[in-house]
Amino acid sequence: MAEKRDYYDVLGVSKSASADEIKKAYRKMAIKYHPDKNPGDKEAEEKFKEAAEAYDVLSDADKRAKYDQFGHNMGPQGFGGAGGGGFYSSGGMSMEDIFAHFGDIFGDMGGGFSGFSGGSGFGGGGGRTRTRQHVNKGTDLRITVKVNLKDIMNGVDKKLKLPRQVACEHCKGTGAKDGTAFHTCQRCGGTGYINRVQQTMFGAMQSEAVCPECNGEGKVITEPCTYCHGTGVEKKEEIVSFHIPAGVEDGMTLTLRGQGNAPRHGGVNGDLLIVIQEEKNPDLIRDGNDLIYNLMLDFPTAALGGTAEVPTVDGKARLKIAAGTQPGKVLRLRGKGLPQMNSSVKGDLLVNVMVYVPEALTDAEKSAIESLKDAPNVVPTESTSKRIFSRLRHIFNKENRGVE
Ligand SMILES: [Zn+2]
Ligand SMILES: [Zn+2]
Repeated sequence: MAEKRDYYDVLGVSKSASADEIKKAYRKMAIKYHPDKNPGDKEAEEKFKEAAEAYDVLSDADKRAKYDQFGHNMGPQGFGGAGGGGFYSSGGMSMEDIFAHFGDIFGDMGGGFSGFSGGSGFGGGGGRTRTRQHVNKGTDLRITVKVNLKDIMNGVDKKLKLPRQVACEHCKGTGAKDGTAFHTCQRCGGTGYINRVQQTMFGAMQSEAVCPECNGEGKVITEPCTYCHGTGVEKKEEIVSFHIPAGVEDGMTLTLRGQGNAPRHGGVNGDLLIVIQEEKNPDLIRDGNDLIYNLMLDFPTAALGGTAEVPTVDGKARLKIAAGTQPGKVLRLRGKGLPQMNSSVKGDLLVNVMVYVPEALTDAEKSAIESLKDAPNVVPTESTSKRIFSRLRHIFNKENRGVE
């Protein structure tokens, strides 16, 4: 079996691509390799499937984080139920999965493909019998949720009021009066699809198309529900509760399947997409899983040693300051950073030491400092400077964390 390609390579995006870039890249691929455009082209079909699989993982913040960490080789608790076999077993996603999951990505393309959401006219994977089922899916809802460092440290349960389309109570989402005033579509026999014979250069080809009589719903309403005017949906404000896992990052999207809008006339709810927005902390700067704190130390403490207090995500920590601590020294508080998502790995808190040089002085302070001016241990020698600079080499290294 050929080696699995990197999902980012498959979609042609960088590792730091935003959710939007990933969606755009996938849409482009899906249009290019769409079976409607490439009938009978096995290679296009494989490309189409490969892109869908990559998109399935990279569009889900949770899966993406796991993939970034483990690549294709997931641990035994990997998702997908493949029993330790990574994101997808060798068979990958089926065409039905793709249409059912991602049909909505083409929703704003103005109906460019006939029957895409149902996969009409497509031959399916390798001659097995398909169970044809029209999937009527509601639209996705997108909300932004603010989290602070404490939420990111511990994970957080959120509850919010959300206006969304839900199935009409009176007709149970059918759009038909009392939920019963409809009958099975006679033209398609309730399947939502009809067979169509087309003349092509290869002769007569049979394909499936969405039934025009019932618009693929398989049923025809004889008397519409008066409460929802036959739409099967009503707008309602509901409380939605969900958990944001520890370690999330700004811009990540979490997907709550089935928590979006209900579709017209019954079917599968859309998804609720939760976009994470990280609130800036006034003291702590985030750098991946690490946190940076700039500590301003007074000269006597830097010279004589002592202690300093630094803020942490959920409180304070006391630091021992060694005598002769130089500005530019980075003190590391292990494990005081942020957790990695879905992992026990934790970042550190890096304390970047600066030493305060007094700006305005009284006469007494001035003369105290002046008395030190020529003291042998206060003025650095050439070798002292060299030794200290060699230890703080990172100051001149832009790659180093926290140094601009
Ligand atoms: Zn029909
Ligand atoms: Zn109704």
